[in-house]
Amino acid sequence: MTTSAPSGPSRPALLTQTDHDRSAEGLRYVYPVVSRRAGGVSVGINLNPNNACNWACVYCQVPDLARGNGPVIDLALLERELDGFLERILHGDFMVTRVPEGARRLNDVAFSGNGEPTTSRDFPAAIECAGRVLARHGLLGRLKVVLITNGTGTGRATVRRALARLAELGGEVWFKLDRATRAGMTAVNGASDSPAAVARRLEAAARLCPTWLQTCLFSVDGEPPDEAECDAWLAFVRARIDAGTPLRGVLLYGLARPSMQPGSARLSSLPQSWMASFAERVRALGLTVRVTP
Ligand code: SF4
Repeated sequence: MTTSAPSGPSRPALLTQTDHDRSAEGLRYVYPVVSRRAGGVSVGINLNPNNACNWACVYCQVPDLARGNGPVIDLALLERELDGFLERILHGDFMVTRVPEGARRLNDVAFSGNGEPTTSRDFPAAIECAGRVLARHGLLGRLKVVLITNGTGTGRATVRRALARLAELGGEVWFKLDRATRAGMTAVNGASDSPAAVARRLEAAARLCPTWLQTCLFSVDGEPPDEAECDAWLAFVRARIDAGTPLRGVLLYGLARPSMQPGSARLSSLPQSWMASFAERVRALGLTVRVTP
């Protein structure tokens, strides 16, 4: 693929790794991300254009975040947008005009939007839609489909069937586990779930589809997560391993962009040495760990 961008007055701006504007391409559901974690272009699918989520994470980058569910999806529009956007990436000038050199690689399609994707009743139909579009472009089984989720939907049979379908499409789940105590989840995720409920959801997801844990780590008022929370997280994960929950690994990441929530000024990135040290403790559990500070 060509790697030099054309010059000229009408050239659109290149996307950057911190540019996650969901409307960057003027579409309702589909948007590109030059992803730090994925090391290339991720095609995002936003099933929450209403900025509604059932959680309220302190680090959330969604502006005007509201409590609620994803809306009814215009599935025909979603399919047209995904189809057209993949066409631009594969056969148009999108990579050359919009993506910096070094990142002109199509990495994945990711259900990751302005809220929890599984809260939309149309989430299962959206998975089917992604499968159809990938098949049309000859990408089925060749391009990964990722569901980035807080896991709360796995109690519902419709979502569980969709996760099984996602596995058939060669997909994977990135299951959010930032803290593993009720107090920690309340403080970080604005969620009052019990660790036992999270364990059940994680077990359900991991049995249906290859599942990674994703964990956001940061300082609050300059202080790293306290040792009791770190120990609780490690104990929770160790217990899942001992129970036979098939985890693919752990994605540890820091604050890529500023939180858009109240109190965001209190949050800051952790030193790389802290992240590396915690990653070693996770590896000691026998898991693969990827760190994006
Ligand atoms: S689960 Fe995701 S979308 Fe929902 S509040 Fe947390 S970070 Fe934001």
